[in-house]
Amino acid sequence: MAVRRKLIAGNWKMNGLREEAIAQAGDIAAKAMGQDLACDVVICPPTTLLAKIDRAFDASSVALGGQDCHAAEKGAHTGDISAEMLFDAGCRYVIVGHSERRTDHGEGNATVREKAAAAHRAGMTAIVCVGETGAEHDAGETLNVVARQVVESLPPQADGANTVIAYEPVWAIGSGRTPTLDEIAAVHGHIRATLATACGATTEGMRVLYGGSVKGANAAEILAVEAVDGALVGGASLKADEFWQIVSAAAA
Ligand code: PEP
Repeated sequence: MAVRRKLIAGNWKMNGLREEAIAQAGDIAAKAMGQDLACDVVICPPTTLLAKIDRAFDASSVALGGQDCHAAEKGAHTGDISAEMLFDAGCRYVIVGHSERRTDHGEGNATVREKAAAAHRAGMTAIVCVGETGAEHDAGETLNVVARQVVESLPPQADGANTVIAYEPVWAIGSGRTPTLDEIAAVHGHIRATLATACGATTEGMRVLYGGSVKGANAAEILAVEAVDGALVGGASLKADEFWQIVSAAAA
């Protein structure tokens, strides 16, 4: 059976100006420094901050990630960033298909799949987000919706080395609400079963993170759930101390 090393990914979203971001990255790097971390850690800041904070992480094992990328390598796409540009800026991960992109920018599974393929083309790990809305959850549609998103959002070459899945119930993001631990276990188990049947053995090592209102206070119990291989953290990743509490819970 594949051993999956836990991953904690912080998504700063559209937050942070230079001074506070450098301080925040410095605080995180100081906590990571000299430690043989028992899990992988990645910070996904706004693109404007990548060049400002990559030095802070140079001597630590904290990796940098982008929050989105365009599917094309380059071209006439004003305002967009290619996967190659993110790699060039030091990123080794990129989030694709976050529900805020799916909602705010109308991105569907086919677009997410192209973006994940772009991340692979550039040599990065794609963090592919899936998750049901509140209405789908209340209608008992969670497992169907999530399985369809997984199958349709992963490019054929996705495997445990180049892809991570983040299960993020849309209604749990930024709301302070989380599914029960049993619900999280059921969805993660279903994602694993879907990967095994629809995508094959190369996905055995693919990590499946949970995201949605993960905090210092609930991280340990969520990360202990069967088949939860880490967390994608939004709000709590903006506070170095709380973020590190989550990293420490993953490493425990
Ligand atoms: C997210 O947006 O990916 C997220 C998980 O946010 P939060 O932790 O704030 O719910």
